[in-house]
Amino acid sequence: MENLIREDYTIDDLIALAKSRNPEINEKLLRDAFAFAKNAHRGQLRASGDPYILHPLMTAKNLAEIGMTDNMIAAGLLHDVPEDTEHSLEEIEINFGEDVKSLVEGITKLSKIKYRGYERYVENLRKMIMAMAKDIRVIIIKCADRIHNLTTLDYLPVVKRERIARESLEIFAPIANRLGINLYQSRLELLAFQYVYPEDYKWIMNILKDKNTERKREQMNNNIKMLDQELHKQNVNHIELYGRSKHPYSLYRKLLRRNRDIEKIYDLIAMRVMVPTIADCYITLGIVHQLWKPLTGRVKDYIAQPKVNGYQSLHTTVFDQSGMITEIQIRTPDMHENAELGIAAHWLYHEDQQNQSKSLVKNHNKWLAELKKWQKEIQNDPKAIDNMKVEMFNNRCYVFTPHGDVIELPEDATPVDFAYHIHTQIGNTCEGAFVNGKYVPLDTTLHNGDMVEIITNKKRKPNQNWLSFVKTKIARNNIKQHSKSSFMGLFSRKK
Ligand code: MN
Repeated sequence: MENLIREDYTIDDLIALAKSRNPEINEKLLRDAFAFAKNAHRGQLRASGDPYILHPLMTAKNLAEIGMTDNMIAAGLLHDVPEDTEHSLEEIEINFGEDVKSLVEGITKLSKIKYRGYERYVENLRKMIMAMAKDIRVIIIKCADRIHNLTTLDYLPVVKRERIARESLEIFAPIANRLGINLYQSRLELLAFQYVYPEDYKWIMNILKDKNTERKREQMNNNIKMLDQELHKQNVNHIELYGRSKHPYSLYRKLLRRNRDIEKIYDLIAMRVMVPTIADCYITLGIVHQLWKPLTGRVKDYIAQPKVNGYQSLHTTVFDQSGMITEIQIRTPDMHENAELGIAAHWLYHEDQQNQSKSLVKNHNKWLAELKKWQKEIQNDPKAIDNMKVEMFNNRCYVFTPHGDVIELPEDATPVDFAYHIHTQIGNTCEGAFVNGKYVPLDTTLHNGDMVEIITNKKRKPNQNWLSFVKTKIARNNIKQHSKSSFMGLFSRKK
């Protein structure tokens, strides 16, 4: 978590960091993008009083840190140019090419979505953001941008501060989690937690430094020594062996699920063992179980059965000699990198040798399956990432109601589809529609992120012409239904 705020960070530091991850980085592109952004933002200050350029530079740093590609880092440097300066997307395209432009464009579009802190449909809001981004790289850049924004929240008005922090916790951290980028997820959570739940944050921080926790830490150190000796004795080469405190927000989430009872948390401080190979992982698990008695049903083999986001490790929970219950995580360095960087790890180390262990995760959630497929393609061809668009939401459209709910509709849906989706009666009496505050014809095509408001009139009836443009079954059926019933009415009146 160190160095999140670095007023003295420079473009040279960024280049050095990017090179340490990828020696073939396009240094000229990054220097040019930096010079362009610096010039575009000249004279602008952040709310913190820093020169504005520090923000895109730190965004780019976050991206370089997880080994992102040249174009992504360049887009990180340029991401606020169209929104906040006189310079246009066209200029970015002319200077840095179509791909960098489309990334910057994607981020600019995302910034237009207004999060209202509305609890319902939060999953749809996540989907809307994914759909609007179209390209997963845009989401990753957005997270990098957001991490830096969170470090300077103290300078913003309270209301704005809370909204940004809540959006980070409820929208972006879960997205980072789905992408398996634990490093980003934990930073977003760590930084946002205190602003969204200040009282609970204090409670958690007190737990983390109270006597009880301190005692557990000491006991953990003893256990580490014991296991270390045992591994040496049995000739298991281990790369690292350390104790690790659960980070505050994930501890908080778990405590809420355990009736706020700290005694029910076994991984407050977990032991982590890193060994060279998968075979070593299982051998180590055996040794741990010789040393300490495992709790029934608590051995989890995420190597044979990885979590949906690709996470792999062996977990076990044991009683130690003092009676303390504690969790132990066993993994290889590759698994560790995967856990920290998620999909990002795959275009860093595409020549991953551990593949034979990766049974393809079956999951019913289509977009995760897509993500897996995409991940796999990246592994085979790391350069492919810059050409890869994520098509998973292409046939869906997500729009806001005036209350801030997010409604999922098929592609090219119209205000009439929206009206019927909300309620049959609203569809039937629909007279007109506002989209983003503008009065529009009822056959207008809706786009991701639109805010739609329907005007009703009790005297109105569904118009048969609507059938020529509606996209949803529910709208179609209701319009047809209505025409039938009015014919019937006509017929019976004649009689
Ligand atoms: Mn920004």
